[in-house]
Amino acid sequence: MTDSSLLFSSLPFSSEQLATLETLEYTQMTPVQAQSLPLILAGRDVLAQAQTGSGKTAAFALGLLAKVDVAAYHIQGVVMCPTRELAEQVAEEIRRLARNQANLKVLTLCGGVPARAQALSLQHGAHIIVGTPGRVLDHLNQERLDLTRVHTLVLDEADRMLDMGFQEELDKIVAAIPATRQSLMFSATFPAEIASLAKKLMRSPEHIVVAEVRVDDAIEQVFYQVSSRQREDAVMQLLLERQPKNAILFCNTKRDTHELYTVLRNHQFSVMALHGDLEQKDREQTLMLFNNQSVRILVATDVAARGLDIKALDLVINVNLAHDADTHIHRIGRTGRAGEKGLAITLITDADAYKFSLLQDALKQHVALLALPTSSDLQNQPQAAEMATIQILGGKKDKLRPGDIVGALTKDNRIDFDHVGKINVQSQVSYVAVRRNSAKQALTVLTNDKLKGRRFRARLLT
Ligand code: AMP
Repeated sequence: MTDSSLLFSSLPFSSEQLATLETLEYTQMTPVQAQSLPLILAGRDVLAQAQTGSGKTAAFALGLLAKVDVAAYHIQGVVMCPTRELAEQVAEEIRRLARNQANLKVLTLCGGVPARAQALSLQHGAHIIVGTPGRVLDHLNQERLDLTRVHTLVLDEADRMLDMGFQEELDKIVAAIPATRQSLMFSATFPAEIASLAKKLMRSPEHIVVAEVRVDDAIEQVFYQVSSRQREDAVMQLLLERQPKNAILFCNTKRDTHELYTVLRNHQFSVMALHGDLEQKDREQTLMLFNNQSVRILVATDVAARGLDIKALDLVINVNLAHDADTHIHRIGRTGRAGEKGLAITLITDADAYKFSLLQDALKQHVALLALPTSSDLQNQPQAAEMATIQILGGKKDKLRPGDIVGALTKDNRIDFDHVGKINVQSQVSYVAVRRNSAKQALTVLTNDKLKGRRFRARLLT
């Protein structure tokens, strides 16, 4: 669903620039772009608190490109970044967005590469330079860099630049740029040092704060209207239809978490619960089983799931709508990681109407509330997990290493190497994940064979 106020065409971009955005499939503005671009294009100084992934690079790049005069062959824009990697990414994004501006030259000036080649490129002229503070200052000191006609200065990841101790370099670089410039500053955090830096180098800046929202197309969001009675059936229907490899289902209370877990377990789903009542040891074991693919589904509360770093989740279901937008965004941010497209399904009841409207405001998006599709009399059964975990009652104290376990399992090709998954050796116990169809045999091997000259007890956990 597109909101017309989020269209790039609602802003005064050239038709060529709009065409480029269309080719790049930037169909609508991200929240940081929607908030900052009108101000940036109006020439205001902007201080934006936004994370990587928010689309911040395009926000300042588009502002910069709108002002660059390609016919004037001198440096007009300076972008400062904390690291060479970031500088290179930024330069690349600017070039991508400048496809329609023939002959526009973007030059990176970073440490770690010979300064001589950069000096040569500088002689040939550039419109925009993107660099790290140390190297830019070097060129400035060597009088190879003329910043006297720069009209736009961007500090990207300003907090990191300060953390890395670049304050002094930045001060000197800024002093070489006309005070009449437009200054744009992007920072993920907003400590006092950033406020004082902003005060020093910006003129009545607009301050923008954007919640950490990933770019929309990385996560597909679907909202289904259900009655609270339907909730558990809806979850089961969705799991059977989607057959996710792994999924986290969020509930708002421990009680709901436990109830849903019980229902799913009774229906033969591969599921475990994660809530605040669990002992640390059990919590860790649950996470390990989920991470090594011995359990497909986790039912969790927000608190229990905090700090959980699980990559590439197939599916997140918000069984209950989160109490606030930040929590919602945080929950769904767990899916679609590592460049994989994720799906977030949220169940909405009538009682959620107000919270749901606040969420739409925060997402800057009107989202359609769909009826739950009628279940197509599915033949699908809950899928067992791909792996099973064997616990061995021996660990680092017994000098066990992962290699001993793999070695025993794969000796004489009893178990295929590819059937052995993650191994986790702790001080007194170890865990090994094996393909479910090899689990019995693996257990026999591990209980009968000697590891490090000794026989250990072992049992199948899942
Ligand atoms: P950034 O936060 O600048 O690192 O951007 C994250 C990613 O989002 C980059 O790969 C951009 O190319 C992409 N991106 C930025 N703006 C948009 C947009 N409006 N629509 C789609 N993708 C975008």
